[in-house]
Amino acid sequence: MDKLREECGLVGICSPHYQPLGTKIYDALMSVQHRGQEAAGIAAYHEGVMTYFKNTGLASEVFHQENLRPLNGSIGIGHVRYSTTGSQERKNAQPLVVDFKGGSMALVHNGNLINAVSIREELIDEGHSFTTTIDSEIIVRLLSKNYKNNGIEALIQTLRQIQGGFALILILDGKMYGVRDPNALRPLVMGRTKNDEIVFASETCTLDLLEAEFIRDIDKGEIVEVDGCDYRSYYYDDSKRRAMCAFEYVYFSRPDSRQEGRSVYEARVKMGELLAKKDRGEYDLVAPVPDSGIPAAVGFANASGLPYTHVLIKNKYIGRTFMDPTQEERERLLRLKLGILKETVKDKRVLLVDDSIVRGTTMKRLVERIKGAGAKEVHVRICSPPIKYSCYFGIDTPLKKALIGANYEIERIAQHIGADSLMYLELDDLIEAIGLPQDCLCCACFDGNYPMEVPKVQSRYVFEKY
Ligand code: AMP
Repeated sequence: MDKLREECGLVGICSPHYQPLGTKIYDALMSVQHRGQEAAGIAAYHEGVMTYFKNTGLASEVFHQENLRPLNGSIGIGHVRYSTTGSQERKNAQPLVVDFKGGSMALVHNGNLINAVSIREELIDEGHSFTTTIDSEIIVRLLSKNYKNNGIEALIQTLRQIQGGFALILILDGKMYGVRDPNALRPLVMGRTKNDEIVFASETCTLDLLEAEFIRDIDKGEIVEVDGCDYRSYYYDDSKRRAMCAFEYVYFSRPDSRQEGRSVYEARVKMGELLAKKDRGEYDLVAPVPDSGIPAAVGFANASGLPYTHVLIKNKYIGRTFMDPTQEERERLLRLKLGILKETVKDKRVLLVDDSIVRGTTMKRLVERIKGAGAKEVHVRICSPPIKYSCYFGIDTPLKKALIGANYEIERIAQHIGADSLMYLELDDLIEAIGLPQDCLCCACFDGNYPMEVPKVQSRYVFEKY
């Protein structure tokens, strides 16, 4: 079974010179590894020749010196794909590389197209064939079909046919292209290194790693074309409102990144501060669920004056684990991932901070374990409002029926997770913490206000039939 929703990390480097690019792109992929652990891949291009390697696994499992060595050129792009319960097949790894009438093309894609199924059916009816089950392949097929003698024209035509949230990096016509969807739902930033290389990446932490100076975020509905060390911009659709994904600030982006000019870390600290300001309860200590709850717990502790401490210790060396989606296996995974400081929690009123509750299973087990270790009370604070609606634009939220926030009142959720109390951040406070105007953000997972019409029937495994 394949999931339609894809959370991914993208990187791209265009250099004025031919150079070994494999290791550089590999390093860049490591900096976005948190965005996807299922598969990794790199394509490098020089004067009509495309070399690439991709496979399932973490970047460090997929790549080694021998397969990085041939990845030389003047343009390189890379991709990491999120680990899901869906297909982990190698065929679905990216970059997607094809030879077509315009030469060799490579594409990496983060996000989700909401009209992928209908386009795919049309293309199949016309006699096109597909080798993967991911929606990204539709972009490649449309590009080949639309190509007359010029990449940018085909790209503009293609982008006007697809709908959804997406960030793309392409190698096309011997140039590198960076693209963001018309609402700027999925992130993509741009920078320049000391050696005059232009870099595209999902997050600014990649620019820091490559010692590249931040130029700017790619704009909504914008294509940036990079040729050598020069770039120019095209707008293919400027009719939509900006709607940057609020969940990037809550959970997905690395805290040392900036998205749309806002520091992710500072936004999370502020989320914790705003939560603390509305909290009148009495506790002995504030502790994060590592790593996602750390900045907000710092903010909560700062604003409340309560001592910040750790009660959960994360095993950093777990990497990927092999598990069946059974209850027992999930518990095994959580015990592998997190240990408990029994002495710290004994007889204490613990205030536990995390970024979000999706299904509620993780938090239920954590509360159980902290209480099992001797805590007197466990109070849970969440730095985002209840997730009530599925995401159609690239964040992996389950179907509505599995979202605990969509189906139960807060009091019932508190009972379910076994917490002595539960508080969520209110939407207004989340927006204040992010620091962008509400009409520039997509908060649809919290308020159902989607920036475009979304499919009425939720079908996440639509590609299964192919
Ligand atoms: P659960 O409530 O058990 O489904 O899981 C909630 C936890 O998963 C939270 O602590 C988040 O840190 C993490 N989380 C939230 N959203 C996502 C996502 N889209 N992909 C992976 N993990 C997530």
